[in-house]
Amino acid sequence: MILPINTYSDQVLRRKTKPLKGADEQLEELIGNMFESMRNADGIGLAAPQVGASLRLLVVDISIAEGYEKASPMVVINPHILAVKGFVSMNEGCLSIPDVRGDVVRPSSIQIKYRDEHFEEHTAEFNDLTARVLQHEVDHLDGTLFVDRMQRRNRRKIQKELDAITRGEVRTSYPIATQTLDCEVK
Ligand SMILES: [Zn+2]
Repeated sequence: MILPINTYSDQVLRRKTKPLKGADEQLEELIGNMFESMRNADGIGLAAPQVGASLRLLVVDISIAEGYEKASPMVVINPHILAVKGFVSMNEGCLSIPDVRGDVVRPSSIQIKYRDEHFEEHTAEFNDLTARVLQHEVDHLDGTLFVDRMQRRNRRKIQKELDAITRGEVRTSYPIATQTLDCEVK
C-alpha cells in the first residue's frame, strides 16, 4: 500500500522517534509499505516519520542511482552511528521537501550499528552514496531535515520554496499527507 508522505512543516517530522523492541507482522507490513511508497516516489531512502510513524526505522534502496544498480535494499532499525570519517559536500533532496535541493556537507564514511528486518544486529561501514542516504535518514529519526544542515546563505535562497510547501502549495507525483493541499492557491 502506498502511504502518503508527510511534508516539511508537519510536526511528525520534528519529533524524536521511539526505538523498536522487536519484529512482528505489523512491522513487516509497515516496512513493505515504506518500500512501496519510496519506490512509487522514485526515492532512494525513506524514514518512518515521513509516513507518519514515529519509530526508529528507515529503508534504503539506491539501486535506481547510476552506478549503484547492484546495491541491495536495506532495512535499518534502531541505528546508531558509531564513528565517522572524512567530509564531503553532496547535493541532497527529500521526498518530504518536494522540488527543493541543496548542498550539505557530511562525513564521507560512517560506521553504523543497526538491526535488520529480522531484528538481527549488524555493525558495518558504509561510504559514498549509501553513507549519505543513511545519514540523511538517521537525521529524520532525530527530527532533523537536510535543510537544517545547509549553509545559512544557501538556506536563505530556498526559504520561499519552504514557505510554499508549508502553505500546501506543492505539486508531487506521489501522495502527500497534507490535508490542506490546494495546487491552485495563489
Ligand atoms: Zn528526507
